[in-house]
Amino acid sequence: MIIVLKKRADDNDLQRVLQKVENHGVQAHVSKGESVTVVGLIGDTTKVDPEMMEVDEAVDKVMKVSEPYKLANRAFHPEDSIIDVAGVKVGGDHMALIAGPCSVESVEQVTEIAKAVKESGANMLRGGAFKPRTSPYSFQGMGTAGLDILVEAKKATGLPIVSESMDAKYIDEFNEKVDLVQIGARNMQNFDLLKEVGKRCTKPILLKRGLCATYEEWIMSAEYIMASGNPNVILCERGIRTFETYTRNTLDLQSIPVLKKMTHLPIVIDPSHAGGKWWLVEPMAKAAVAAGCDGLMIEVHNNPEKALCDGPQSLKPEKYDELLKQLSGIAKIVGKEL
Ligand code: PEP
Ligand code: MN
Repeated sequence: MIIVLKKRADDNDLQRVLQKVENHGVQAHVSKGESVTVVGLIGDTTKVDPEMMEVDEAVDKVMKVSEPYKLANRAFHPEDSIIDVAGVKVGGDHMALIAGPCSVESVEQVTEIAKAVKESGANMLRGGAFKPRTSPYSFQGMGTAGLDILVEAKKATGLPIVSESMDAKYIDEFNEKVDLVQIGARNMQNFDLLKEVGKRCTKPILLKRGLCATYEEWIMSAEYIMASGNPNVILCERGIRTFETYTRNTLDLQSIPVLKKMTHLPIVIDPSHAGGKWWLVEPMAKAAVAAGCDGLMIEVHNNPEKALCDGPQSLKPEKYDELLKQLSGIAKIVGKEL
């Protein structure tokens, strides 16, 4: 249930309404927008009589929220959420331009790529230290040593770090070294991990869409993180499994307008894992910006032929540079800053 306050409602009005809500034993979540204040009710709202709430002179209307997600629901927070990642804003007019290798391989590799993508205009550096690989015989990532390399690259470039966490036991280390904690597609429904990062992670979360997840399942995973105490969630579409085998996955660009309708959370597109081919990255990144995404996560490698993971889908730094130049015109048309 949500209670929309009248435009002229002041702080005293809000406190009075909150008191009434709390008297019913349900939790209230306040969203103060520029034009409207919304009080979202979470918990068992069956005992709350909407008409009794509407009697209050400061209340404009009371509406039932039938969706199972509340905190992530657009109705609870009518304005776009803007998430701050170490000073870089994501959402609203602000775009996250996340670039870097699939995996951290060495300090030289990451630093060289970080300097190049920064020069092109990227505002965050990605790099996997813990890699979720289909085969146990594939490179599994450098682990915590990889995080230290990312910290070095941050020192050299100032770019905030994005890296995937697969296990709650490293949360303290991620809090210390990483600026945006990625939960990968394969862990989107690892509910214990979601609850732990919700409870203990002090950094925003980049939640990738599961390989076969519906929009609602994906948003419910964001709800787990938010309900556990971390409201700063950015969604990332990275392609879903379809019957097509020519491409690695199928990029679902409809997710951008659909998620913007369903939630207030920013949505970033990862065209690299979607297509699995470097030459698909440019057209799909352009389409994603035109469709109104809040950011792009793109794999960039200085030597894709020798990459330990995902070389075929990685752009060389020169290609990334060209791409950002072309994207700035499209971004302007849709009212975004690059
Ligand atoms: C990655 O970003 O390197 C990754 C493993 O992504 P996903 O979870 O989307 O497969
Ligand atoms: Mn990858």
